Amino acid sequence: MRRTYFIKTFGCAQNEADSERIASYYQARGMELAPDIDSANQVVINTCMVREMAENRVYGTVNNLVKNKLKIGKPEKIIVTGCMVGMAVRDKTGSFMKLIRKKLPHVDEFLPIEEVGFDHAPLRTNQTNAWVPISNGCNNFCTFCVVPFTRGREISRPYKEILHECYSLAGDGYKKITLLGMNVNSYGADLIVGPENIQVLRDIDKTYFNNETLRFPFDSAQDKRSGQAMKGYRLPNGQMVKPILVTHLNRLRIPTLFPYLLEDVCKIKEINEIDFMSSNPWDFSDELIEVISRNPKITRKIHFALQSGSNTVLKRMNRWYTAGEYLELLVKMRKQIPGIQFSTDIIVGFCSETEKEFAETVDLVKKAGFYKAYLAMYSDRPMTAAHKVFKDDIPHSVKKRRWSILEDLINKPSHNK
Ligand code: SF4
Repeated sequence: MRRTYFIKTFGCAQNEADSERIASYYQARGMELAPDIDSANQVVINTCMVREMAENRVYGTVNNLVKNKLKIGKPEKIIVTGCMVGMAVRDKTGSFMKLIRKKLPHVDEFLPIEEVGFDHAPLRTNQTNAWVPISNGCNNFCTFCVVPFTRGREISRPYKEILHECYSLAGDGYKKITLLGMNVNSYGADLIVGPENIQVLRDIDKTYFNNETLRFPFDSAQDKRSGQAMKGYRLPNGQMVKPILVTHLNRLRIPTLFPYLLEDVCKIKEINEIDFMSSNPWDFSDELIEVISRNPKITRKIHFALQSGSNTVLKRMNRWYTAGEYLELLVKMRKQIPGIQFSTDIIVGFCSETEKEFAETVDLVKKAGFYKAYLAMYSDRPMTAAHKVFKDDIPHSVKKRRWSILEDLINKPSHNK
């Protein structure tokens, strides 16, 4: 009889996509998917740490499995992977690894997701929409967010490898592709300047790109209009392009290849729907808006995390936009892309959020016209700047009230009629 595995996934689409790669790794070793978690020989728990509640659900699931393991010897092996392990391996002090080993003493293996790699084609569970990860990690360090600690700094998958996967999905009959990353709009910045230079990008100006010391894959080419030598990035089809320079508040944020990638995926004729998530409002370049507007295959439902409509809260969150800039962007996109709709993420009860600050969020929500919102009550997360610097001082009852107000306003608008 063939040995079996089962994968329990918590959290976001990126975790779902990672689990599809884990499944393919098991299949390559001759194992098959068990019908349920209780009958599997090996169980993988793909964890999420975005909120305390998600983390507690992981502990609950693993502890239930352990009871079975000790009682009936099944599963024989419990493997924990995902964000929890990501944070443990990145915590240089080793204290988080110590903590999870103490809380989960019967886990057989803590597997960093990076070790799974991209060698095997994912075993896809969704037969219509294919997830295609284009990058992993995030460099933004919003003060409430664990992602830079659980998934590390942003690393882009090679352009060629992504396109190859998209073409082979088309060959397999897929019609819809969703490009995944924590901040898809910054895709490629590390491919352009090298991962070691990513952090300095926030404070450099555009003249950086005149620097002759930039290394592969930068190359020299002739600018057709000016006849001047220019720096460029060579796409897999041999075309030399200038990276899109995303500036914000007159400062260079990132050079990105995302608009080129999106347009190249649009060229795959068998694919008729292309989605992407997540994208950051402050990295949404004019070039990206243009690519979307001229390619009807690209989704008209854009997810833009707002998090707060108060400038002072946004500042405490280390978000790179003001409420006004966010609204301006929505107006601009509505003008250039007819039929576009927006969904969002909002956190209520962030550290010291006053009634006035919350009212500013309500005000922005009324103007923005979101069709959907993922609302969260702020949850203090280890290692984040908010955890170290601010106090999680808004009572649960207040967070709940604010959550309900926004829920009624955005997700249950009929309540207000
Ligand atoms: S941009 Fe998104 S993933 Fe990155 S730190 Fe901010 S909230 Fe987290």
